[in-house]
Amino acid sequence: MPATKPQPKPAMQVPLLDLKPQYRPLAAEIQAAIEKVCASQGFILGPAVKELEASVAAYSQCRYGIGVSSGTDALLLALMALEIGPGDEVITSPFTFFATAGTIARAGARPIFCDIDPVSFNLSAPAVEAFIAKHCERRGSNLFNRNTGGRIKALMPVHLYGQNADMVPLMDLARRYGLRVIEDAAQAIGAEDADHKRACSYGDVGCLSFFPTKNLGAFGDAGMCVTNDTALAERMDILRVHGGKPKYYHSLIGGNFRLDELQAAVLNVKLKHLDTWTAGRQHNAAFYDAAFERAALGDAVQKPHAVLGVRHIYNQYVIRARDRDRLRAHLATAGVGSEIYYPIPLHLQQCFAYLNHKAGDYPQSERAAEETLALPIFPELTEIQLQYVVDSIAEFYRA
Ligand SMILES: *Cc1c(COP(=O)(O)O)cnc(C)c1O
Repeated sequence: MPATKPQPKPAMQVPLLDLKPQYRPLAAEIQAAIEKVCASQGFILGPAVKELEASVAAYSQCRYGIGVSSGTDALLLALMALEIGPGDEVITSPFTFFATAGTIARAGARPIFCDIDPVSFNLSAPAVEAFIAKHCERRGSNLFNRNTGGRIKALMPVHLYGQNADMVPLMDLARRYGLRVIEDAAQAIGAEDADHKRACSYGDVGCLSFFPTKNLGAFGDAGMCVTNDTALAERMDILRVHGGKPKYYHSLIGGNFRLDELQAAVLNVKLKHLDTWTAGRQHNAAFYDAAFERAALGDAVQKPHAVLGVRHIYNQYVIRARDRDRLRAHLATAGVGSEIYYPIPLHLQQCFAYLNHKAGDYPQSERAAEETLALPIFPELTEIQLQYVVDSIAEFYRA
């Protein structure tokens, strides 16, 4: 084998995500908004945070918004506000970002996994129903897990990749068994079901992330809890500032979960463009769908499935691909960025070894972790770039 085979330079570079073309046209407006905060020297819970809370809540069909320091802190704050802690259990998906189950454990509760639907990659309502039927029993108004003795307190569905989980049957189960519902909508701001109901508007609390790679991205970490429940909104508002109200009088133990005024100022400018960016992502997804049809790759590639009539906001465009890891290496050589969300399902993470799971416990999640690949989908991609991605994939399977 020759020691140094010269690599041909890729014909094109298609990064998984490039935020610079989004920033350039807004630079002056964003800098003015930042300067306004600097001139005021009011960095904590000022008018920009208030404005963002009102507009993001309305955008999510909710009455109240509580700006927080990250999507992770939004989940933790929601759990704390619902008094979920030691002895309690929360049912969620093992095929998600770590924070979903990580915050459940940090609250002192136990994450209980149920498998995903293989088409949507979201928590399967039939799997939750089967788990409850098989392993749980009611005592009074509570639902207990017979295997552990823990009390099932809540469901935490995730709207993965920007498409809502199947919330109608999940909410039905929650009502039937007296469970609270926290929606992990970190990837799904403005996603709708076919009845135009938006992510965050179903459950007790919706949790949003404004991490830079999300559809509405801050210049750093930021997030929000949104809710229609007045008492819960008040509790989260207090817990966000160490549980003190009035200041220095603590009836609750909270934390510092505040959203920075500077981040809110940036987000207020960007929120006005969110629908245009979402339309750009949807356009790109439709282009990919058609280009994969034309490429006729048989069962080598399965396109993402958007349920008919829903508003999928495509935080990620995720395919299932045969020989995924070699495809990914081929794409890297061709100059195409891609990512695996997520390579290890949460039930197999080392830190959750105490939950005593093994490979095979959640086969759909494990298969998804082995087969899925996220392709570049950000709004500013050109059709030439999108076609190049599909051509590069076709080239791999034809070789
Ligand atoms: C991004 C993300 C989070 C965490 O949000 P951060 O703002 O990064 O803390 C939680 N859950 C899911 C599904 C996410 O994608």
